[in-house]
Amino acid sequence: MEIADLVASKVLDVPDFPKPGVLFKDLMPLFADGPAFAASVDAIIAEHGAGSFDVVAGIEARGFVIAAAIAYATGKGVVPVRKAGKLPRKTVSATYALEYGEATLEVHADAFLAGERVLVVDDVLATGGTAEATLELVERAGGSISGFSVLLELSFLEGRSRLAPRPVHALLTV
Ligand code: AMP
Repeated sequence: MEIADLVASKVLDVPDFPKPGVLFKDLMPLFADGPAFAASVDAIIAEHGAGSFDVVAGIEARGFVIAAAIAYATGKGVVPVRKAGKLPRKTVSATYALEYGEATLEVHADAFLAGERVLVVDDVLATGGTAEATLELVERAGGSISGFSVLLELSFLEGRSRLAPRPVHALLTV
C-alpha cells in the first residue's frame, strides 16, 4: 500500500475536539499499529536520507513519539521541543499566536552543537504556527534545519506557505 493510503487508513477524524469547529485528526491508531508505524518512520527517513541529519527534534507531545523512533532507527539522538516551563536548565524560547491567546515552546540553550543538522518532526501540520516557532527556535539555539516532516498536513490551513521557502514533507496531505 502507498504510504499516504496507509496513513489515511489509520487516522480517525474527531469532530469538535478540543473545541467546537475543529476536526481533530487522531493518529493514535497509526502509532498503535506496529507495521504502519514502522512504515511511516521508514518513509520519513527515506525521504531525507539518514546521512542528512545529526539529531531529531520532536515537537511536544506526539512529535516525541515519531522523533524517538527515527532517532533510534538511525542511531541519532533526540531533542524534545517542549511547552513552556518543563525544561530545568537555561532555555531558548519562542512565543507564537494561537487562535485564542499564545503559546511558548522551549529547548535547552545547549541542545544543539553549532551547525548541527536537525530534522524536525511532528504529527500534524495545521496553520504552521507551531512549526514556524520550532524551526526558528532550533536555529536560535544553534542548530541548522535539515528537514521538516509530518505524518499529516491539512492543506486548507496553508501551513506550507507560511513555512515557505522551507520545504515541508508530509506523508499524507488532505
Ligand atoms: P499548527 O500550529 O496550527 O500547525 O498546529 C500544529 C500542532 O497542533 C501540532 O502539534 C498538532 O499536533 C496540533 N494540531 C493542530 N490542529 C490539529 C488537528 N486538526 N488535528 C490534530 N492535531 C492538530
